[in-house]
Amino acid sequence: MRKVYSHESLVMVNHLRNVLEAQGVAALVRNDRLMGVLGEVPFVECWPQLWVVQDHQATRAEQLILEALEEPDPALADWTCGACGEQVDAAFGLCWNCGAEPTAD
Ligand SMILES: [Zn+2]
Repeated sequence: MRKVYSHESLVMVNHLRNVLEAQGVAALVRNDRLMGVLGEVPFVECWPQLWVVQDHQATRAEQLILEALEEPDPALADWTCGACGEQVDAAFGLCWNCGAEPTAD
């Protein structure tokens, strides 16, 4: 087991896990439910982490992650709220301004 990536957005970490799995690299996400304990530990340590199961695949995994980050998935792009027109960061599943869900377009 080796940690290859960490990001504040669980959406991003899960996306990269899918990228690795699609390339035959077994990976899993840790810290995906620790957001409620902020304050006890440094914030960054609470970020969701991406781990590869096989250490020898870590280098390949890091390469795949770099490639994936250079070509962002359109599904992870910022989106525009259909209810209020606000630009919402891709990390948010709901509009931070009015609380509406993204509309499929
Ligand atoms: Zn809105």
